[in-house]
Amino acid sequence: MAKTCIENCLTLTASKMAKIPRLYSRMVTWGKKNNLLGRISVVRVADLEIRLEYQVSETFICYQVRLNTTPLPWDSLRYWFSCPTCGRRVAHLHKPRYHTHFLCRHCHNLTYRSRQVNNRWSRMFKEFDKYK
Ligand SMILES: [Zn+2]
Repeated sequence: MAKTCIENCLTLTASKMAKIPRLYSRMVTWGKKNNLLGRISVVRVADLEIRLEYQVSETFICYQVRLNTTPLPWDSLRYWFSCPTCGRRVAHLHKPRYHTHFLCRHCHNLTYRSRQVNNRWSRMFKEFDKYK
């Protein structure tokens, strides 16, 4: 079975979530106004914790995601998610269309579209090799 492409998922970026002030919430949307692909509410419940709230079909989903930081020059910080399932430090969390949760690409077993295209080419070349 072909892996799901990251490009087909809803993606959250840790550095953007870190811009939400503490105790504030933001609506995050994907797609266009007349063709909304996804909409979730993100609450910055603590410096290093956000809460995701959204609906999948009729189910209301709500869970917390830990943030991590690593220092950058000039006293700034880079923010990361801690994947809710495996705890990996990742810059992005993804939700494939038929999944309920935002997790890292390892947990969802995702691939990049460019990689699939490359694999297709390399498979083709392997086929050619057989006939040399
Ligand atoms: Zn994970």
